[in-house]
Amino acid sequence: MYRRKNATTGREHSTCARLGRIKIIMSQLTIALTKGRILEETLPLLAAAGIEPLDDISKSRKLAFETNQPHVRLLILRGIDVPTYVQFGAADMGVSGKDTLMEHGGDGLYSLVDLGIARCKLMTAGIKGQPEKLGRIKVATKYVNIAQRFYAEQGRQADIIKLYGAMELAPIMGLADEIIDIVDTGNTLRANGLEARIDIADISSRLIANKASMKMKHHLMQPIIEAITDAVSVKG
Ligand code: AMP
Repeated sequence: MYRRKNATTGREHSTCARLGRIKIIMSQLTIALTKGRILEETLPLLAAAGIEPLDDISKSRKLAFETNQPHVRLLILRGIDVPTYVQFGAADMGVSGKDTLMEHGGDGLYSLVDLGIARCKLMTAGIKGQPEKLGRIKVATKYVNIAQRFYAEQGRQADIIKLYGAMELAPIMGLADEIIDIVDTGNTLRANGLEARIDIADISSRLIANKASMKMKHHLMQPIIEAITDAVSVKG
């Protein structure tokens, strides 16, 4: 009898603790960003929503940052990890390039606002002046899923070689016939003897959100989404 009573008390206690934790989680908002151009261009948009980090993110090695809004924290991740954090709810919102979202596939996410920042193009490129190789080709890229879809749609047979950087070296070194990569000014292609060929997609960064967070934390997220949307439309 005594043990049973104790067990009941224990259950009640753990239920209370769990409810308390859920209440805290429900009142907090986590936003995933990445360092570099996206961060620089996102901070003014967050400031328009009244959110400012307490530390200088660009000078810190920390990965999680408190903000002037006690319930909002920022995470600094590798770009490719932002959609994954948001998909699984480890972050409620995030800012991610369309290239990264296309590669990720977008499961479990809403893509809410085109922020119009970090604009560039996703393109194929090959050695300057060299005619496109017919038949089966080798393609070096970090965008394996996009590449597979793209060449399948084109009806071309392609062996995709996954690289994590310096894609522009691959054709010159004979590793690949073509690359798929981000092109902004085209300077990196030119400097490595390459030329852009086919335009796959216009890229810019998007505000994304976890689908469950959009329902459960709507009251926290909606004002931020509205303020950011307004700031983007004012910027034009
Ligand atoms: P560019 O020489 O100006 O054409 O820049 C091309 C290189 O810069 C590529 O290798 C990309 O890795 C990087 N880059 C340029 N713009 C972006 C962007 N908006 N997002 C991600 N990477 C970019």
